[in-house]
Amino acid sequence: MESNQPNAMGCGGKGRFRRICVFCGSRSGNNPSFGEAAIDLGKQLVERKIDLVYGGGSVGLMGLISKTVLDGGCHVLGVIPTSVLPSEVSGESIGEVKVVADMHERKSEMAKHADAFIALPGGYGTMEELLEIVAWYQLGIHDKPVGLLNVDGYYNSLLALFDKGVEEGFIEGSARHIVASAENAEELIRRMEENET
Ligand code: AMP
Repeated sequence: MESNQPNAMGCGGKGRFRRICVFCGSRSGNNPSFGEAAIDLGKQLVERKIDLVYGGGSVGLMGLISKTVLDGGCHVLGVIPTSVLPSEVSGESIGEVKVVADMHERKSEMAKHADAFIALPGGYGTMEELLEIVAWYQLGIHDKPVGLLNVDGYYNSLLALFDKGVEEGFIEGSARHIVASAENAEELIRRMEENET
């Protein structure tokens, strides 16, 4: 890490991606490796000079990754709807905060500002954000890489469900490759950069 000063202009990206949108839990989960993976992903972004867009707030894995990226000197944009704005819901804000009217505006705003998406472990909110962005890709609404960080096999059953969807004829075989997955951030970003899944 070359600087610990927040960069208002953004780091600009050394490689293919300039800013990645990360979906992740507003909780930290029970396994310490989830928190470690959030911090590691933050460090990988900083190393590659990739800025972060995320759901705002400082709770759970969201707090860990946003603090890591900000401390590493890259830009953090949190997009937060008025309904989850109160600090008792989201914690203290980190980086630049954009307040939007509702969850729909939040998701389209996050998507607009990013050139790739990564989901860390998380709950319904994370899964919903991931699946919506996958469905948007399938519909041709965007063509930005989507990655799943499968920390300690957390998403094994979701990946198996995708396979079941193909097997049962609900998901095109080609659409199964929309989501890249890996167990660590370095490998995941490499796969996304090279369009591997
Ligand atoms: P979940 O995985 O259910 O914890 O939801 C996490 C996702 O939903 C994040 O990517 C956020 O976009 C959003 N979210 C859920 N809870 C909060 C919160 N307290 N503050 C900000 N965003 C939240």
